[in-house]
Amino acid sequence: MPEDWKDELRQRYAWAARTPLAVGEGWRALLADTFERLDAAIRSVPADANGMAFQCHDVKEKYGTLRIEMVPYVEEVEAICLDAENRSETVCDVCGSTGRVREGAWVMVRCDAHAKGLGA
Ligand SMILES: [Zn+2]
Repeated sequence: MPEDWKDELRQRYAWAARTPLAVGEGWRALLADTFERLDAAIRSVPADANGMAFQCHDVKEKYGTLRIEMVPYVEEVEAICLDAENRSETVCDVCGSTGRVREGAWVMVRCDAHAKGLGA
């Protein structure tokens, strides 16, 4: 059940139908908002402009922040992915509260409550 929100995103956006969404529940709202913006951007680009359909290859956490990999490369789509990465620096990936990057054994974004035990 807790992963249902990921299937909802995959079903809503054809370009993310098979995308691994390896991120915590806390980034759910950020990801939903970002996917909505990506979808609008994708729709504004002519379907055959790049010779291939848009696909989201990967959604993951890397060095603490949200990474979204889209193909083909289109500047306005990439800008939305980068914006999401920047925004994720202040969103706890467990609960969605305001957090900051913690550098312990692993680098992750956590609020004070969820930073306990990270050694950061
Ligand atoms: Zn938290």
